[in-house]
Amino acid sequence: MNKIIIAVDGHSACGKSTMAKYLAKSIKYNYIDSGAMYRAVSLYCLQNAFFQGDNLDLLALREHIDAIRISFRFNEVTGRSDTCLNGENVEKQIRSMEVADKVSPVAAVGFVREAMVRQQQEMGKNKGIVMDGRDIGTVVFPDAELKIFVTARPEIRAQRRLDELIAKGEKASFEAVLENLKKRDFIDSTRKDGPLRKAADAVLLDNSDITIAAQNKWLMELFRQASAG
Ligand code: C5P
Repeated sequence: MNKIIIAVDGHSACGKSTMAKYLAKSIKYNYIDSGAMYRAVSLYCLQNAFFQGDNLDLLALREHIDAIRISFRFNEVTGRSDTCLNGENVEKQIRSMEVADKVSPVAAVGFVREAMVRQQQEMGKNKGIVMDGRDIGTVVFPDAELKIFVTARPEIRAQRRLDELIAKGEKASFEAVLENLKKRDFIDSTRKDGPLRKAADAVLLDNSDITIAAQNKWLMELFRQASAG
């Protein structure tokens, strides 16, 4: 069977990555978390003091952007891929609220997107990948054979993200998480470059009220149809 590219886009915290990881594992494809790449660039900005409050030093970032390499390394313990920033494992740091708070402005910068899209296209050149993000079906792989656009009601997404943070031992309130998600969705969908939007040929899924098992069954059926065609 020919390998294909699967693009999973959608709003923040609607379970895109759970879905994409499950699919990739079931069909033995590589999973690429493109959001982790923008998170890693944001971490780089924080580490190098490119932020003064909410102000980002674009000149400094532009000078450094070509030196920022994101890669993924399989973690034998968790059975998942960890994100590496210039070779250093930053998986835990990029999931913090501090990074979540800075990532959308960083991801809205045109030259940051160009650099990340180039790296993402390189990762998909042999196909056989599931990539999740905001612009995968529209910009990164407009010819992807299967495109899925996922959403869920904001309160449901905030509760899911809060549960995840608490499970990792982070402190956060429901209100703060909801606020962060709404802010990110707004910036992501109104930016000029690679805005969050459904590709015309993407299949829409609102998973507010469906179980993960039902979602997985639906996914496998979609994959069967797309890879047969
Ligand atoms: O998917 P995740 O929530 O980890 O993504 C973090 C942020 O990265 C998003 O809020 C968005 O601003 C940005 N992003 C993006 N384009 C992508 C993936 C993520 O702009 N393809």
